[in-house]
Amino acid sequence: AGPVGNTMDRGVGYTPYGEHFLMQCGMEVVLANGDVLRTGMGGVKGDKAWQVFKWGYGPTLDGMFTQSNYGICTKMGFWLMPKPPVIKPFEIQFEDESDISEIVELLRPLRIANIIPNAVVIAGVLWEASTCNTRRSDYIKEPGATPDAILKQIQKDKHLGAWNVYAALYGSPEQVEVNWKIVTETLRKAGKGKIITQEQAGDTQPFKYRSQLMSGIPNLQEFGLYNWRGGGGSMWFAPVSQARGSECEKQMRLAKRILNKHGLDYVGEFIVGWRDMHHVIDVLYDRTSEEETQRANTCFAELLDEFEKEGYAVYRVNTAFQERVAKSYGPVKRDVERKIKRALDPNGILAPGKSGIRI
Ligand SMILES: Cc1cc2nc3c(=O)[nH]c(=O)nc-3n(C[C@H](O)[C@H](O)[C@H](O)COP(=O)(O)OP(=O)(O)OC[C@H]3O[C@@H](n4cnc5c(N)ncnc54)[C@H](O)[C@@H]3O)c2cc1C
Repeated sequence: AGPVGNTMDRGVGYTPYGEHFLMQCGMEVVLANGDVLRTGMGGVKGDKAWQVFKWGYGPTLDGMFTQSNYGICTKMGFWLMPKPPVIKPFEIQFEDESDISEIVELLRPLRIANIIPNAVVIAGVLWEASTCNTRRSDYIKEPGATPDAILKQIQKDKHLGAWNVYAALYGSPEQVEVNWKIVTETLRKAGKGKIITQEQAGDTQPFKYRSQLMSGIPNLQEFGLYNWRGGGGSMWFAPVSQARGSECEKQMRLAKRILNKHGLDYVGEFIVGWRDMHHVIDVLYDRTSEEETQRANTCFAELLDEFEKEGYAVYRVNTAFQERVAKSYGPVKRDVERKIKRALDPNGILAPGKSGIRI
């Protein structure tokens, strides 16, 4: 994994620069006919603003090369965040699954006002437990969805919330102090949520890997997800929603119902953009079992169908479902995409079928 691939896929991270495509500035792209296109200011001979001014002149083209098959990006300008004097990571634990709505309503104003400037994460109990080496088989031997009573037991044993919010403050000591007061006061007024600071958490997981992510230090801790059920099967289901409590709760309940119906667990988190939520659910299954793999695929298809009925769609998907997801976005978009593909790559040599785009 690397910054170019992640940004070309419009991936997200956990610092104030977490919406990676927003931080991209200028691209060099090799087209199917061998032409080399430079976006933004890049086409101007002698220009020095290619990596600092995104828009250039006329239509701005960068976006159409992401999640597409119109060209190969061979250079990318990418803004790096200067390290602030202080980074103050913290966690807020909430006891009940039904708290999700209130959490989102509490956090959104802080996020939009940039008091909390990073991509805040609201992680469910199973996400955090499995990243820290909790296995389903430690608690239950029967196959199928894990009962809520066990989720509560895990919460208790592993000192987790039903929801675990991770955020950080960045800036000078004075800025961080002011913003910390605003955050703690907001929670005090809500009368809910247990704050855990770096000093309290010490070197413990999952706080440690989360605080590293929020400081821009990548790590592999989340691979623990694949030991929850064992067998390593994973499909990311990532519907987008407004950052609105009622919407997030509705999505969570819908996803959990469908997953549980297929004998699988809701292992999910919300990543708070400025005004949106990336609801990221890892559909975990045992891929050494043909039956379970089939069931996970059926479940994934049902998730897409049922979410679409409610007006939701995913922002990224695995190759097996890219054609299906392209349909969710409507025929006009598909038609325009196909026309562009035919114009730029008439023989369809670059990644045919990517995001459902063919000649
Ligand atoms: C445990 C786990 C946790 C993860 N957490 C996150 C997360 O927090 N955030 C997140 O966003 N993702 C996450 N992912 C998903 C994924 O691994 C990452 O997004 C990763 O950064 C993708 O980068 P890559 O370099 O592997 O891209 P690739 O998979 O190589 O590429 C991604 C896409 O971009 C296209 N592409 C790549 N390079 C170019 C290029 N030069 N020109 C044109 N197109 C190109 C490819 O065709 C591909 O479709 C996670 C995955 C796992 C297994």
